Amino acid sequence: MNSKLMKLPLLTLLCLSLLYVTGCETVPYTGRSQLMLTSPQQEAQLGEQAWNEVLAKSKVSNNQKYNAALQRIGPSIAKAANKPDYKWEFKVLENAEPNAFCLPGGKVAVNTGLFQYASNDAELAAVVGHEVAHAIARHGGERISQGMVQEAGAQAISVALNGKSAGTVEGIMVGYAVGSNLAVVLPYSRTHEYEADKMGMIFMSKAGYNPNAAISFWQKFKQLSDTGRIGEIFSTHPMSDKRLEELRAYLPTAQDMYNTAPNKKNFGESLK
Ligand SMILES: [Zn+2]
Repeated sequence: MNSKLMKLPLLTLLCLSLLYVTGCETVPYTGRSQLMLTSPQQEAQLGEQAWNEVLAKSKVSNNQKYNAALQRIGPSIAKAANKPDYKWEFKVLENAEPNAFCLPGGKVAVNTGLFQYASNDAELAAVVGHEVAHAIARHGGERISQGMVQEAGAQAISVALNGKSAGTVEGIMVGYAVGSNLAVVLPYSRTHEYEADKMGMIFMSKAGYNPNAAISFWQKFKQLSDTGRIGEIFSTHPMSDKRLEELRAYLPTAQDMYNTAPNKKNFGESLK
């Protein structure tokens, strides 16, 4: 290997070596290169399966206030994310754990337990925007791809290079069996969190919600985490001072987007 090649980051090298298949994608809005061995169609199918599993195991809430709020906010975030091919669905789940998620392909769930920390529509839009961003940036597919490379190593790559054989599909399914929980349970990497924070602020601002609500919402969660009441959302979306710093640093850019949003709702309705 020559010295120039040595200086390239490992991911770039991996991407270059896989480039003649579908090895690499670029994340919208941030421009980051990501390893991607799955297709959006495969991810959507897996997301759909995981969604059916979640719904079979969960009770959908009939709280009118919470449902009305999510139906007000969810579609406007989806519109801002501009993915008309996603089969968007938004459901409130009866679950005291303050958490939310968006599966690949656009299935969004918010637990009833999260609403006690969302003071208004804009704060709910902040968390829905963050979750939707994970799906738009295809973080699920990226994690499956990383898992395929790590776990199956050279063999998975060679199978992937030789076309999508039954073995590859099976590999993805195994990845996603961890994966359907992965979407809900395994922590996102810090890179994914920063990316989802930034893109989430873009979506909420374009949807007409004041991006300051992203700071107040995640600030509340940071305080909660500091008191030691660590909930599921912290294990899946690790919170840190650095994350809050980055959110604040991005606020002026998001504010500009909010200022030009066609349908400004500021903080929206109170959820208290
Ligand atoms: Zn997250």
